[in-house]
Amino acid sequence: MNKSVVIIGGGIAGLTVAFRLKKAGLDVTLFESGSRVGGVMFSTEEDGYLAETGPNTILETSPKVTGIVSDLGLDGEKIYANEASKIRFIVKDRKPVPLPLSPLSFFKSPLFSKGAKLRLLKEPFIEAWDNQYEESLSQFVVRRLGQEFLDYAINPFVAGVYAGEPDHLSVRHALPKLYQLEQKYGSLIKGQIFGAKERKKREETSKQRARMFSFLHGLKTLPEAFQKALGDSIQKDTTVNDVTPMKVGWWVHYKKGNNTTKTVTTDFIVYAGTAFGLKEMTLAKQSKDDFVFFQKIYHPPVAVLVLGFKREDVDHPLEGFGMLIPKVEDFHTLGVLFSSTLFPNRAPRGYVTLTIFIGGSRQPENALKSEPELIDMALADMSTLLGVRSKPTFVEHTFWEQAIPQYDVGFGTFKEKLNDLEKQYPGLYFAGNYRNGISVADTIVNAHETSERIINQVRPSPTPKRVGERTIV
Ligand SMILES: Cc1cc2nc3c(=O)[nH]c(=O)nc-3n(C[C@H](O)[C@H](O)[C@H](O)COP(=O)(O)OP(=O)(O)OC[C@H]3O[C@@H](n4cnc5c(N)ncnc54)[C@H](O)[C@@H]3O)c2cc1C
Repeated sequence: MNKSVVIIGGGIAGLTVAFRLKKAGLDVTLFESGSRVGGVMFSTEEDGYLAETGPNTILETSPKVTGIVSDLGLDGEKIYANEASKIRFIVKDRKPVPLPLSPLSFFKSPLFSKGAKLRLLKEPFIEAWDNQYEESLSQFVVRRLGQEFLDYAINPFVAGVYAGEPDHLSVRHALPKLYQLEQKYGSLIKGQIFGAKERKKREETSKQRARMFSFLHGLKTLPEAFQKALGDSIQKDTTVNDVTPMKVGWWVHYKKGNNTTKTVTTDFIVYAGTAFGLKEMTLAKQSKDDFVFFQKIYHPPVAVLVLGFKREDVDHPLEGFGMLIPKVEDFHTLGVLFSSTLFPNRAPRGYVTLTIFIGGSRQPENALKSEPELIDMALADMSTLLGVRSKPTFVEHTFWEQAIPQYDVGFGTFKEKLNDLEKQYPGLYFAGNYRNGISVADTIVNAHETSERIINQVRPSPTPKRVGERTIV
């Protein structure tokens, strides 16, 4: 009989695991508490506008990402971001300034003072940190690169990726590759140069060089394709509230809508829900060893506003990926994507769309404002920064109460706890953006690795053949 697996959560992590394991011949059931799969990944199409309510782009950092898109038959729908997206703006002195892309343009750029540029030259000579405790991203960056680099490069960057704050994020867990450069090469600059060879060997592409893609009809194409491939292996509107280990295998207790609790038995369980959702679930009903611990992972609220404007009502040419706003510049907005520049058919002809992020760890209270208040805030910022001169012609507002897990200082304890639980309860696995990276690409790669671990468990071990005195496996 085929081995069975229950996957809890139908975000991109759960869908990847389900798809891989179904292909490997396991009997797969995926429970999703919402009425659609995709988790935070969703797009709407209305009046000629296409709006992403969660992620907007996927980075092709690994062949596992490219592979899953191909295996789902989506190569023909994939679109790469416009060449102009290489240009990114950072706000300095209340104006968008292009981020320098080469060492030469860095030295010419008005984004950093002469002092900050000279400070960077010292970086290869600064000793590596050899303490065991986790350092915050701010401490790390000030120590190696200086305050201005923190304010005008790292602060806006982590606002864009994590909606996070460098004072709280752990460098080791939030930006592990940066951390590793220091650990391995003693310097970020040296590591950037010498690390390229190793990335090539691992078939990885650095985030700076990876191509960025979406689909003609937005990122929702991906969960829709998974849904089609998985068919009735997916049960929507179904929440799992307890998992209990038996002598062999597991009981999974779940509820469909308001119906009574039902039970299914399975060989393996993959929890691919949210970290904050874990607190709602129990492990072995009576066990004290429940999941409440994980509610300590902070997920700040984020408001996403997709606003449409007539092209002539925006002064800025919008030729670029978007604009990030450092905290020291004191605006309401964390960052803006120039969505209609990035990909075609995001706005009707003659119109443009901006995707604006508000709140995050920097100003969580702002994300909670009403839609009219958010629009006013966004328009005030956009009028100063991009010369927006009219009310929007299109509005799509999404409020994420708990948007993105923050890999804050101390995050190592959560990772250890997950490893311990997996060891203590064979057959139980964890996958999702709360473990080894929050980006869609990292989530896919990690889900892929989780499915490999399960496949290795069920794959029959080869029968040893005796050849002479030696045993060959
Ligand atoms: C606003 C925003 C913008 C982003 N932008 C980008 C971007 O441009 N590029 C990028 O790479 N990344 C981006 N990210 C991050 C990335 O999208 C997410 O980290 C990733 O998609 C998370 O996938 P996941 O499967 O781990 O979790 P989720 O998408 O959160 O899915 C988890 C699913 O599990 C379900 N679930 C939870 N508990 C249970 C239960 N007990 N029973 C049944 N079901 C359950 C939930 O309903 C949910 O559907 C963004 C995130 C947000 C919020």
